Amino acid sequence: MGRTSWLEQIFLRQVLSKYDSVVLSCSFGAPEGMILIDTISQISKNFTVCTIDTGRLPSATYRLIDIARNRYNFKLDTIYPKYDLLKEMVAKKGMNSFYESVENRKECCNIRKVIPFNDYLRENKIKAVITGLRKEQSPERNDIKLVELNKYIECAKINPIYDWLREDVMEYVKLHDVPINSLHQLGYESVGCDPCSRPGTGRNGRWWWENNESKECGLHEYGSGI
Ligand code: SF4
Repeated sequence: MGRTSWLEQIFLRQVLSKYDSVVLSCSFGAPEGMILIDTISQISKNFTVCTIDTGRLPSATYRLIDIARNRYNFKLDTIYPKYDLLKEMVAKKGMNSFYESVENRKECCNIRKVIPFNDYLRENKIKAVITGLRKEQSPERNDIKLVELNKYIECAKINPIYDWLREDVMEYVKLHDVPINSLHQLGYESVGCDPCSRPGTGRNGRWWWENNESKECGLHEYGSGI
């Protein structure tokens, strides 16, 4: 597939011009967000990337954030957990309560990711979020559409590479020398928080101690965390 097709570029241009306030959401833990940064940087010199610093990210992810900021010209909005909620959870349950139950894991994801992300969208009046989600990444993502209007409150969700295959993504990365998370070289296809990620295909390495649970943190579900 190579560089994103002209149709995708036209679509992204339209998204950037149609919405007053649009951001690209990037975890810096998967190559998909990086190729979108690479693509959008070719059509806009003034775009915003948002990312969530949960406080538990691997150092490889922080390194990639700085590499990307040096190479591309974007404004970075870093979203942090709500301090009071985090302090209360850690005081009550300890540093690594997420290993003890699915309920605790979801509570941690909620406090460190979902609630601050939804607050960020609301407080900044964001009207559209561009993501690198793909249908192939997991069964839960199989029904992703190009444009979704019911995933965030009063905010469209745009998934320009929703139907790309993994080989399309990696071909783009290789052809255009896009920087990606160094943990991919160690077999991590998806990199999230350090204690909750390990090598694996797709999202299998995420929350690896849970057997049959959804490999999602709740960020992509309607109204979650509010
Ligand atoms: S991925 Fe793990 S450490 Fe990160 S927010 Fe979720 S449960 Fe907490």
